[in-house]
Amino acid sequence: MSLQPFPGAGFFHDGQVSPIITAMGQRLVEEGCSQYQVGPGPAWSGADQASYAAFQRKLGFSGGDADGIPGQTSWDRLQVPSPNGGGNRVSSPAPGHGVTTAYHIPGSWSLGYHTGADYAAAEGTPCVAVLDGSISETGEDPNAYGNYLVLRSNGFDYWYCHLSQRTVGRGASVGAGQQIALVGHTGNATGPHLHFEKRPAGAGFGQDVNPNW
Ligand SMILES: [Zn+2]
Repeated sequence: MSLQPFPGAGFFHDGQVSPIITAMGQRLVEEGCSQYQVGPGPAWSGADQASYAAFQRKLGFSGGDADGIPGQTSWDRLQVPSPNGGGNRVSSPAPGHGVTTAYHIPGSWSLGYHTGADYAAAEGTPCVAVLDGSISETGEDPNAYGNYLVLRSNGFDYWYCHLSQRTVGRGASVGAGQQIALVGHTGNATGPHLHFEKRPAGAGFGQDVNPNW
């Protein structure tokens, strides 16, 4: 298959036909951004572009950044499920909750930017493995990440931080969608949320990458 989760801006043009465009449209409808008359379809249309522009404005973009042509940042935030991925893709590490503080925004963090994505959710909200993998590390870091665990999968480490509780132990093999922890506010956290961070496997603090999966 030539389908890619984000094929680049050149992919989205009139006449392009792909099941991923249908999947994108369905996500735009879920986000309340529909400009469709008859619902999303597989052929890129003006309604797709208008709906995507509404989503970009919802994210706070304007001008040329809200032109309705998917860019990497908005595409990552939309989390379009793979249309040929077997239908069991985990849409959030804290199901039912979306990103409330985005990755890499500048601010008063120790590196001057946010090293992960935050999912604000009530204390005790389940956190799930986003992919099949194993728990490579667990720990307590009272001044920063609090109670945390690390899911290793496909050459990356996914850090789940500020947990109230871990529900699996180090070394456990887990499946995508399986509960592994509960949201909390341990460590340096002003309120309950999941700080979700991605690094190459074994990489240290500051070597974070965009936390997609
Ligand atoms: Zn955070």
